[in-house]
Amino acid sequence: MFPSAEIAIRLTAFAAIFAALALWEILAPRRPLIAGRRARWPSNLVVLVVDSLLVRLLIPTAAVGAALFAAGHGYGLFNLAGLRLSVASLLGFLALDLIIYLQHVVFHKVPVLWRLHRMHHADLDIDATTGVRFHPFEILISLVIKIAVVIALGIPAVAVVLFEVVLNATSMFNHANAAMPLWLDRVLRLIVVTPDMHRVHHSILRQETDSNFGFNLPWWDRLFGTYRPQPAAGHDGMTIGLPIFRDPHELRLDRLLTQPFRNDRPSEDRVH
Ligand SMILES: [Zn+2]
Ligand SMILES: [Zn+2]
Repeated sequence: MFPSAEIAIRLTAFAAIFAALALWEILAPRRPLIAGRRARWPSNLVVLVVDSLLVRLLIPTAAVGAALFAAGHGYGLFNLAGLRLSVASLLGFLALDLIIYLQHVVFHKVPVLWRLHRMHHADLDIDATTGVRFHPFEILISLVIKIAVVIALGIPAVAVVLFEVVLNATSMFNHANAAMPLWLDRVLRLIVVTPDMHRVHHSILRQETDSNFGFNLPWWDRLFGTYRPQPAAGHDGMTIGLPIFRDPHELRLDRLLTQPFRNDRPSEDRVH
């Protein structure tokens, strides 16, 4: 698979899923928005463009290039073990999802990494665009980790592309401000992280911020004891965001990009 095909697949999937979720949010919102779309969408979406361009500029072939490289040279555990494509793809997908979960936990625990990641948490509302609002440095670190795992395990390129498309889709889905019947949330939560599950992670309360780290599969949180079913104040009563960066000016693109390097009451960036 060529990088141009990967880009086309990922762009098409992104546009279709984003449009469907945006429509759902407008027709059946889960919560009223505090800061609204006009103040947030342009900067959240431009951050996505900055992230994508930076990745293509610095690591043009991205993780799929690493997969093709590993396959071509016979590198990685799955290649050495001679696993069938289907088995290697399934295991590779699960391994990447576990790594993303673990990486997310580490980004919360290590102060310098939390500085990068807190930009994602500082959004005053949570909707599909929050799902693509990550600091470019966090995206680059994440990609380097992904490339290392892809080469070490020899994950097939098809599994890497599938994982990237699914992760992008589930990240927008589980941030969506979309209402659904509670029974449907309960059923979906068995196989995928739902909006109600991930919203707990965007609570201003630290013990809630430090729970539900999964983006895709909900099992890791249950396995490692970081699962929290609902926010204490309820989905309508909870406050989204962090105690710092609550000024609406912080939703501007330039403010988003500089948040990791500013010391706005650093000791109070989470409510204990
Ligand atoms: Zn987080
Ligand atoms: Zn999130």
